[in-house]
Amino acid sequence: MTADSSPDRRFERALASLRGLSVGDALGSQFFVPSNYPLLKRRELPAGPWQWTDDTEMACSVLAVLAHHDRIDQDALALSFAQHHDFDRGYGPAVNRMLRLIREGGDWRELAAALFKGQGSWGNGAAMRIAPLGAWYADDPEQATHQAEISSYTTHQHREAVVGAMAVAAAAAIAADPAGPPTPESLLDGVIALVPRSAVGAGLRRARDMLDYGDANTVAAVLGSGRRTSAHDTVPFALWSAARGLGDFERVFWTTAQVGGDVDTTCAIAGGVVASTAAGAPPEDWLRQTEELPGWVPDGRA
Ligand SMILES: [Mg+2]
Repeated sequence: MTADSSPDRRFERALASLRGLSVGDALGSQFFVPSNYPLLKRRELPAGPWQWTDDTEMACSVLAVLAHHDRIDQDALALSFAQHHDFDRGYGPAVNRMLRLIREGGDWRELAAALFKGQGSWGNGAAMRIAPLGAWYADDPEQATHQAEISSYTTHQHREAVVGAMAVAAAAAIAADPAGPPTPESLLDGVIALVPRSAVGAGLRRARDMLDYGDANTVAAVLGSGRRTSAHDTVPFALWSAARGLGDFERVFWTTAQVGGDVDTTCAIAGGVVASTAAGAPPEDWLRQTEELPGWVPDGRA
């Protein structure tokens, strides 16, 4: 075991990523309110406190399961999602119903497989919560993709949703490389190499081609920014933005938020990836205005 794969280092990195994810989610969700659009244009912060949404709530379960099991235990993860499910945090209707049924004793395997007429959900919900897992496995990006894949099936079984989660986990792992931060190109190349053929993968290759574009709106028009809340409409743009701003949380946040779409989720993904390294931590005053993580989140390994 190296220092970077020590349980404490893994936990620290994952918690740092979770904090970044929560700031991206909570501040991003402020810009769903039309009266805040002018602030977004001027890159000014709305008055806090900013409440986080389902992205953060589910990511807290991911970290809690890793802290207790040192890997993803699917039954524990599904149960944690269900037990901590707060209906008012902006979950989609299908997930709201499924988590309620799991709480009432339903089997997540059957429920998740039955969603959307048996195709499984291709929503961005498995990707939005997974950056901390990537940070956990910064010393082993391939393991990050395996564990992300396993974690997805508890709620999102469509191939695109699964690959979306694998891509975000790979990105957070590579961004937090203990040997030093990658270039934008090597980050996306590394992610592309770790994910199977898919619409998410095709979007990532397009994102790689557009790294030199300065205009986020054009890039979002091509890649999507979560307006359809699918994994393939969300993940490529969020990782394009994160790749271009490693080490600069503020820049990544504003670039990601300005294009609209599923802003809390694109900012949760990009924020979680960037914050997987100390240099990419959110500004202190942003963190202070973000609602605290729930008390059940472990503050160290169990
Ligand atoms: Mg949300």
